[in-house]
Amino acid sequence: MHQNSHSVVIIGYGGMGSYHAKLIKDNERVKVVGTYDIDSVRAEASTQDGYRAYPSLEAVLEDKTVESIVIATPNDSHKEIAVRAFASGKNVICEKPVTMNVSEFEEMTAAAEQAGKVLMVHQNRRWDEDFLIIKQMYDQKSIGDLFRIESRVHGANGIPGDWRHMEVHGGGMLLDWGVHLLDQALFMIDSKITSVSSRLSFILGDEVDDGFEATIQFENGISYLIEVGTTNFITLPRWYVKGTEGTGIIEDWSMTGRTVTRNREVEHVEPKPIQAGVGLTKTMAPPSEEATITGVLPEPFRQPSSFYDNFADVLDGKAEPIVKNDQVLRVLNLIEAIFEGGRTGETIRDFDQY
Ligand code: NAD
Repeated sequence: MHQNSHSVVIIGYGGMGSYHAKLIKDNERVKVVGTYDIDSVRAEASTQDGYRAYPSLEAVLEDKTVESIVIATPNDSHKEIAVRAFASGKNVICEKPVTMNVSEFEEMTAAAEQAGKVLMVHQNRRWDEDFLIIKQMYDQKSIGDLFRIESRVHGANGIPGDWRHMEVHGGGMLLDWGVHLLDQALFMIDSKITSVSSRLSFILGDEVDDGFEATIQFENGISYLIEVGTTNFITLPRWYVKGTEGTGIIEDWSMTGRTVTRNREVEHVEPKPIQAGVGLTKTMAPPSEEATITGVLPEPFRQPSSFYDNFADVLDGKAEPIVKNDQVLRVLNLIEAIFEGGRTGETIRDFDQY
């Protein structure tokens, strides 16, 4: 073990738990010393992968050599596991959505504070390249001031066939992908939310939403659309953004995209009318070639460190968490407003804890 390495046990060795094990393998300062999963098949998988499978959560929490745990179980179990871990003097990395709602999260952060332990939520999509390119466009105004941002993830496979179908486990797409896209929005836009309007989709007949749309208005004038769909056999681009000088697009996860901006070097060229459908239009005619510049996407914004390096730095007292708990709380509060708007059909205002 690296001299200063921090020991963690992964609670829930399913899809994401085993992914954490892979992530941590690449990090010299954090080491997985075991796992615990209620399912014996997953416990066996952990042993096969070379990790000690603890027989119970108690056994993990009683083990004084374990400094921290990673919680990667279904959403409804996060709070109880975290509160018990803090009471046993462990630090916690918790998967998203950290809890089912604001009040559970307040209980969790109070327990962390009382124990004097670290709680960091794995909002890993703050490190996604597509997002970091858009953040760079926003910060550097490369297509002018952004005033409209559309962030979408589309699939056609419905809700995955597990606990994500069930309300009691915190299923549904708003709590699943939604929390990532909302976290990105609030991390990027430093402005108070004035209102949110939303619509949840129940087209597949599940008891939880199979997708949703939310339009967030920020005090600084930005209108931000977030859309998650699991019934989209043809997908819309991952990002479509409009700025005062042009438009940007990122099509997919392989960063296919471009910007088109107005060319300030040339005199305004009046567009020529084109035939559109059975009519003529000048308004919707494409701008002349010399009037615009097609550019490549900017280099992404660079996060100061990886999630696990940041975690190690926080434990060593060398850095603040990149994912801060008051930011996580703000996102959960926004999720509650989106659920409320979906239920009532009303635009929700005066809720943001900016
Ligand atoms: P999963 O069903 O694949 O795995 C969950 C595992 O937890 C299962 O092996 C199950 O047996 C085990 N488990 C259930 N209750 C337990 C308990 N009380 N104690 C110990 N083990 C228990 O689910 P998943 O897709 O890995 O999702 C787990 C968590 O990770 C969820 O909160 C999910 O939202 C999150 N997640 C995050 C990302 C991301 O990119 N950050 C991606 C996928 C999932």
